[in-house]
Amino acid sequence: MPMEATAHAPGVRLSEAERKRMADAAYMRLRQGILEQRYPAGERLSIEELAVETGAGLAQVRQAIQRLAADGLVEVRPRSGTYVAGITVAEVEEVCDVRRALECLAAETAVLRITGEQMSRLRTLASEMNALVVETDAQRDRHERHNEEFHRVLVAASGNARLIEVYDDLKYHMQAARLHALGRLDWKRSLPDEKQEHSMILHALQIRDSDRLKVVLRQHIDRAKAAMVQALSVPSARLGS
Ligand SMILES: [Zn+2]
Repeated sequence: MPMEATAHAPGVRLSEAERKRMADAAYMRLRQGILEQRYPAGERLSIEELAVETGAGLAQVRQAIQRLAADGLVEVRPRSGTYVAGITVAEVEEVCDVRRALECLAAETAVLRITGEQMSRLRTLASEMNALVVETDAQRDRHERHNEEFHRVLVAASGNARLIEVYDDLKYHMQAARLHALGRLDWKRSLPDEKQEHSMILHALQIRDSDRLKVVLRQHIDRAKAAMVQALSVPSARLGS
């Protein structure tokens, strides 16, 4: 019997905090496994086997699976099972192209409508990203969340409610694309470029130059797209189902 299994043996009562910690650990471990392709795309996942592998209880594994499904990393098919989700290079390209179009559209009105509060939030997020030490996966996730918020604030500054709605719908696809690419991406290498591009975005907003802002956003998003496409193109273009 694996040693971990004793942690959730019948009769052992776990505190709420312990259960949460185990669910978090199971999530991180499964996520890592999917990103490193130890669980290849298309593979059927067994909750029972994952419980043994991660040392978590069935309930915690189910919670982890729900989070992974929300990330776009697993697919729960009714009456069939849970499978590791894949992503194609074409899908990543589509998502990035739509993202670029939406952010460039936002740029047109954002330069006119951005509030002082939004501008200072962007400055804060940019300087926090610059100050972050990005070495571990957890730190990288934190940096990603800052980056997501930075772009969300920029789109919100457009003042176009329909655009914000469409952008938010795309978020799930962007996260899935990023997560799939992150496992293979040399993400530290792009940090200096990202930092510089964010400061150019801030500058264009500050001088209220929408053309300048669009040029910088295109450069920023296309660079990220190229890096993701390159990461996903090796060793095969098709990553699972
Ligand atoms: Zn960015």
